[in-house]
Amino acid sequence: MNTYDLLVVGSANADLVVGVDRRPAAGETVLGSDLVVHPGGKGANQAVAAARLGARTALLARVGDDGHGRLLRDSLDSAGVDTSGVLVGGAPTGVALITVDPSGDNSIVVSPGANGRLTPGDVRAAGELFAGARVVSVMLEIPLETVAEVARSLADGTRLVLNPSPPAPLPDEVLAACDPLIVNEHEAKVILGTELGGTQLGTDPEDWARRLLARGPRSVVVTLGSEGALVADAAGTRRVPSVKVKAVDTTGAGDAFTAALAWRLGTGESLADSAAYAARVGAAAVTREGAQESYPTAEEVAAYAR
Ligand code: ATP
Repeated sequence: MNTYDLLVVGSANADLVVGVDRRPAAGETVLGSDLVVHPGGKGANQAVAAARLGARTALLARVGDDGHGRLLRDSLDSAGVDTSGVLVGGAPTGVALITVDPSGDNSIVVSPGANGRLTPGDVRAAGELFAGARVVSVMLEIPLETVAEVARSLADGTRLVLNPSPPAPLPDEVLAACDPLIVNEHEAKVILGTELGGTQLGTDPEDWARRLLARGPRSVVVTLGSEGALVADAAGTRRVPSVKVKAVDTTGAGDAFTAALAWRLGTGESLADSAAYAARVGAAAVTREGAQESYPTAEEVAAYAR
């Protein structure tokens, strides 16, 4: 049986990007730049990020039997990701249709396509991938019932990492399996929203982390962009410093952070040390354009060590 440092269960999308002078209003047609197609989706991004760092990584995902699906598989293969769990068919490959104006503001339409057809049955059929994984990472660009099946399918001693993006309220059984739950401010607000009965969440991330911990996860990580991150578990909360860099493009930084953290946890590193490493990976990722194209190797991350 194969063993994996990290099994990612999640989405794979083709990001179709067109630059425009002005994003169109309702009923309007505007001309744009040549189309650029990037491999993306949070699952594929995480898998590529971890493999680039040297982690033995597998991806369980679903793509369409089409050119976008082949583009994604090529990108995963060339990063060294095990794609035996990349299933084909059921719907077209998921796409994100992105228009970007000169100020960098964008409008995005996501068609989940095959990502929406990754079923609990697909998870059950991937028993060998789960049996061989030290850590499993999952996100919400696939059906919630599939995420719940992932939480039920962990082998003894396998750790679950969940980044609830795009954010949605989570069932207790999923929250209880997270170690850690990784959120940014927006995701924290959505997960905690109903509990707070519409009142505002304060500005203190340590408070968000404590409230999230009370919902059941064994540990919580709050990512804070250029401010670094915060980790929380039964031992308390700790700040993880950021690394000062010149940010060029923050796309996919959260996915690189999550993948790096998940991998380091699987090597036996503490949550705080894993998050500190992941913060260096996230910082390196924002210094370059793109998502998967921006992910660093372990040698490049070492250059950010203090
Ligand atoms: P995404 O927009 O990709 O979903 P996110 O909001 O989940 O991202 P961020 O907090 O933006 O996640 O980034 C993840 C981590 O990457 C941060 O916790 C931080 O360690 C690092 N990072 C992000 N932006 C910067 C930056 N400008 N400078 C230094 N480090 C950064």
